[in-house]
Amino acid sequence: MIEHNKQFLIILSAPSGGGKTTILNEVRRMTDNIDYSVSYTTRQPRGTEENKIHYHFVDEPEFLLRKEAGDFLESALVFGKWYGTSISFIKGRLEAGKHVIMDIDVQGAALISSTDIPYVKVFIVPPSMDILKDRLIKRDTDSMEEIEKRLKIAITELEHIDRYDYLVINDDLETAVRDVISIVRAEENRTDKYINPIAGFLCTGENHDQ
Ligand code: 5GP
Repeated sequence: MIEHNKQFLIILSAPSGGGKTTILNEVRRMTDNIDYSVSYTTRQPRGTEENKIHYHFVDEPEFLLRKEAGDFLESALVFGKWYGTSISFIKGRLEAGKHVIMDIDVQGAALISSTDIPYVKVFIVPPSMDILKDRLIKRDTDSMEEIEKRLKIAITELEHIDRYDYLVINDDLETAVRDVISIVRAEENRTDKYINPIAGFLCTGENHDQ
């Protein structure tokens, strides 16, 4: 039998308001081999966010201690707050046979390139700047000043698109979710994700008649 046990990181980045969180939650709901990496952050919880589910909410001294101790695969200052990915969590889930999906900004995604853990990077973008602005306004979580700031940042983030393997345009949610799942499936079927497929194919002694 041909064996396949190489799990990988699925790195999602998108401008704020790009619909990344919704897509990510749908992808997790529709698959059974993808775990979510809960990041550490020094920002305050928003709305119904819960500690350890949406983020590990920690103060800056604790974050910096963890960073110093090498607990993070990557970390970055985003909108003036620290965010970081726990290396032990990721390794644990990969060893348990799961892919790990991560929601990280373009700086963090760039840092991932230097690890030896396999990954695929996906950038999600709304169809246009006007639609992004509309979505941020409808989300009703930020002031107009904050929205303008996020739009400016979005333009600089878009300049990183060519460092990603795939670009998903989030026009229709269902299509975007299906695209991300297709990307994962395609990556799983890359020839280098199989362990010695010829030996596996030639392996005899298995009885498939029953
Ligand atoms: P929010 O505070 O709105 O949840 O996230 C703000 C930004 O931080 C988003 O672009 C999100 O992708 C990014 N982010 C969340 N977790 C991490 C992380 O662990 N590392 C990095 N580099 N960015 C993160």
